[in-house]
Amino acid sequence: MESRKEIRLSDIAPQVISAIEELKGTYGGFEVHPSLQAQMGQVTSVLKELTDRLDDNFPYFHPHYAGQMLKPPHPVAMAAYIATMMINPNNHSIDGGKATTMLERELVKDLATMFGYPAEHLGHLTWSGTTANLEALWVSREINPGGSIAHSKDSHYTHTRMGEVLNVATIGIETDSQGRMRLDDLETKLKTGKIGTVVVTVGTTGLGAVDPLADIIPLARNYGARVHVDTAYGGFFTLIADNHLDPETARHYRAIADSDSVVVDPHKHGLQPYGCGAVLFRDVSVGRFYKHDSPYTYFASEDLHFGEIQLECSRAGASAAALWATLKVFPLTEAGLGQVLLGGRRAAVAWHDLIADSEYLTPLQRPELDILAYLPRFDDMSTLDWASHEIFERSAKTDRSNQIHLATYVMKPDGFAKRGIRLTENAESARIMRSVLMKPEQEHWIPDLHSHVESLAKQLIEEKK
Ligand SMILES: *Cc1c(COP(=O)(O)O)cnc(C)c1O
Repeated sequence: MESRKEIRLSDIAPQVISAIEELKGTYGGFEVHPSLQAQMGQVTSVLKELTDRLDDNFPYFHPHYAGQMLKPPHPVAMAAYIATMMINPNNHSIDGGKATTMLERELVKDLATMFGYPAEHLGHLTWSGTTANLEALWVSREINPGGSIAHSKDSHYTHTRMGEVLNVATIGIETDSQGRMRLDDLETKLKTGKIGTVVVTVGTTGLGAVDPLADIIPLARNYGARVHVDTAYGGFFTLIADNHLDPETARHYRAIADSDSVVVDPHKHGLQPYGCGAVLFRDVSVGRFYKHDSPYTYFASEDLHFGEIQLECSRAGASAAALWATLKVFPLTEAGLGQVLLGGRRAAVAWHDLIADSEYLTPLQRPELDILAYLPRFDDMSTLDWASHEIFERSAKTDRSNQIHLATYVMKPDGFAKRGIRLTENAESARIMRSVLMKPEQEHWIPDLHSHVESLAKQLIEEKK
């Protein structure tokens, strides 16, 4: 077997660019209109200006960037995207995107299989997790009109916003000491009979907490509510849940199979460029809600077009091509894409254990996925807030090869109290540190990251003495 090695975009882009140019040439050459011509010197200087300006970014691609949910796509995704973009198909209709519609059907089937959805299901890619959630909540509103949307107080902030868009009331459910939806509070609110849909977050954006889905499903059903799973961030952890996450967490991952709808973002943990979310429905009959009547659509073929079962109209065929190609190389198995997630998961556990033993840092809680929250050891909220911000600033304020980029996370007093962290309450909130460890390389950088952050915490603690 051929051995594996690092794949660089510069090695594979020429292959696809020349293949597509050749393909175009088979239709016969033509001259580009003068309006589209430009001076090469100007183009190269504009592109030079662009690449210079891009220097003003944090190094999202580097293991030293351990802040927000950011990383570049895999070169395979980039090459497939570039190739397809050169033709620019639109997956709104088969006529607009013949090959890419077929590619999207194949990959949606793979996503459905990953979640344990039935062979008969409805699903498609979207531009984002937000639009994917909007679509699922819109379908829910049509099925349970008048019912409100319940979501945990730690769920993504767009759920309340989408509730406003849909003119559906939203209600926040309390979270427990690990940031998971509390069943007792959910039940109290279900008892009012007003809830039509429960949004269950499997992997919160803030802390990667997994709501107790397996227990929420029977509870919600008991009160006639639908269950929508927002696993935009955490969805691909399904691949490693059974063997590498806590058994309780794995039990909730398995329950995704019984949900009514589910959202996952390939542009987060699926190695894709932005513009790639996905929504799946268990029941194909929800297709009845997608009405369209426009004189300019072009559903020429008899087959189902994605435009007939999606909220949005135009959608990049290149997104489908990029994800399809990526999943051919990194299939939806533990040995495939699962290994990418496992690297970050191991990094989070390893760093948590180092922090738990540290004199100067303490973890907020055990990470459930690959997001780690921790704080320098201070006794009051105001100093903690100051110190977290100082760590954030100082860790990045050095020469490029030594910079560490972190993120902060705002906590209210009850967030500390319910985790047994006692702090003098001399501020309304306090920032702590948060690191999303989504690059598998980071599993080898933890000692380095830890020693940088710990020495800063030590320095600040000594400054305050
Ligand atoms: C990121 C995220 C969203 C929003 O998705 P976008 O793709 O950023 O629009 C929604 N829910 C969860 C849990 C997320 O992590």
